[in-house]
Amino acid sequence: MHQSAPVAACDFVVFGGTGDLAFRKLLPALYLRDRDGQLTPDTRIVSVSRAGLSDEDYRDKVHAEVRAFLPPGTFDADAWAAFRERLYHRELDVTNLAAYQDLAKVLVGGEDRVRAFYLSCAPKLFGPVSRNLHEAGLITEKSRVVLEKPIGTDLASARRINDEVGAVFHEHQIYRIDHYLGKETVQNLLVLRFANMLFEPLWRSGSIDHVQITVAEDLGVGGRGGYYDDAGALRDMVQNHLLQLLCLVAMEPPASVDADAVRDEKLKVLQALRPTGPGDVVRGQYRSGAVSGAAVAGYTEELGGPSSTETFVALRVGIDNWRWAGVPFYLRTGKRLDRRSSEIVVQFRPVPHSIFGADGPPLSANRLVLRLQPDEGVRLHLMTKEPGPGGYRARGASLNLQFSETFKTRTPDAYERLLMDIVRGNPTLFMRRDEVEAAWTWTEPILAAWAADAVGPKPYAAGSSGPAAAIALIERDGRTWHEEEST
Ligand code: NAP
Repeated sequence: MHQSAPVAACDFVVFGGTGDLAFRKLLPALYLRDRDGQLTPDTRIVSVSRAGLSDEDYRDKVHAEVRAFLPPGTFDADAWAAFRERLYHRELDVTNLAAYQDLAKVLVGGEDRVRAFYLSCAPKLFGPVSRNLHEAGLITEKSRVVLEKPIGTDLASARRINDEVGAVFHEHQIYRIDHYLGKETVQNLLVLRFANMLFEPLWRSGSIDHVQITVAEDLGVGGRGGYYDDAGALRDMVQNHLLQLLCLVAMEPPASVDADAVRDEKLKVLQALRPTGPGDVVRGQYRSGAVSGAAVAGYTEELGGPSSTETFVALRVGIDNWRWAGVPFYLRTGKRLDRRSSEIVVQFRPVPHSIFGADGPPLSANRLVLRLQPDEGVRLHLMTKEPGPGGYRARGASLNLQFSETFKTRTPDAYERLLMDIVRGNPTLFMRRDEVEAAWTWTEPILAAWAADAVGPKPYAAGSSGPAAAIALIERDGRTWHEEEST
């Protein structure tokens, strides 16, 4: 089916419809899908929060808040006017069961439609909301519940949330969102790996030297310091996004793209992750510095108090199976780094022998770079002959597939794809319970080691590439972090 074919009629109920995520991501994505004709005319979007807003107030607020987050050139007055009419707001405290009657009134008549309860609120509310939806009789056969990250702060709390939500929703109704999986390049990883003969035979330790996954942000924590300080980079980024990316790179070919076929393979990777050793993890925290020439404060200054929370983490990860034995996966993520860039680098091994002889040109090994942001695309580095007579002057060059250039189309935001998958009932790009719990099982010993370590995170200057120890982590193995190149 074409991705912008209309989806079934749906009532989206956004718990936290006045929050940052709703205004920045969910409502822009729904507007764009509506503008492109994917939502049926009777689809409704019902926001829930404690704010005393009428439907009209909410429509005005969405207009004021959301326009700034729409991609350039996508605002269309007629499309917006139609979208505005879909919006409703109900004032209710989600912990108060009696108040759900008000929500029930607006949903009346929609019992046969898909009902998507999007929990864009604090994870501690996931259990109470689920229970109250059940008690209020609002969970229909076609209902789905969408859980935003983080699913817990450790294995026990993740299990508790999963138990509470699982007590009233079946697993197939639960959509644990990891928006990285909705990114075009990430889905393209599946197409590159499994729709081309070229890569799969080489996708293993015999041909691949190592893999790097980097998610670098140049922003600091800003106004989200309260949330972030309880989480840190390991919980906020590695346990979910980076491990999910690692799974898609490392998993065995699933038999199909069916949700369980893919998720079974990802789970096997998580279960094969080797526990990290003492030298395998570096945590850091930014100090003041300069980003793009502007002076910026350090983490604790932004936070307004002391903290040992990490804003950077780099790891060397092993996967104990036949395919990946001996191939390290280097992961790193951090805030206030020198650039905003996310990429997966698959570094192939050098050719076993140069036929050009000892005096011939130096040969660099092939490298496949998948850019997640900015400029989603794929780059394959090859050796090629420099044109001209006489001798073999070989030079590295790259095949560059930049999606915006190649397809001459706007790259949709991950949430656009994921929200439509929820209505379609396709959970392939969402995390299953056992995946989330396996990821916590692997992450927990790192958290425990940090809790017992009085030294704390290593400092790094804002605007740098992270602490020196992260560079040493990979250089100890005779390798270097991939930096952006011009070829
Ligand atoms: P936020 O800006 O603090 O918004 C929270 C929303 O929940 C508000 O609409 C708030 O409205 C509502 N709410 C809070 N308590 C409520 C209650 N008892 N009853 C009814 N409504 C209540 O948070 P956010 O940044 O949008 O994040 C939402 C969720 O997404 C969190 O789990 C967060 O971890 C996750 N997330 C956020 C981002 C992001 O970029 N923002 C990214 C990934 C994941 P009232 O206070 O008016 O009730």
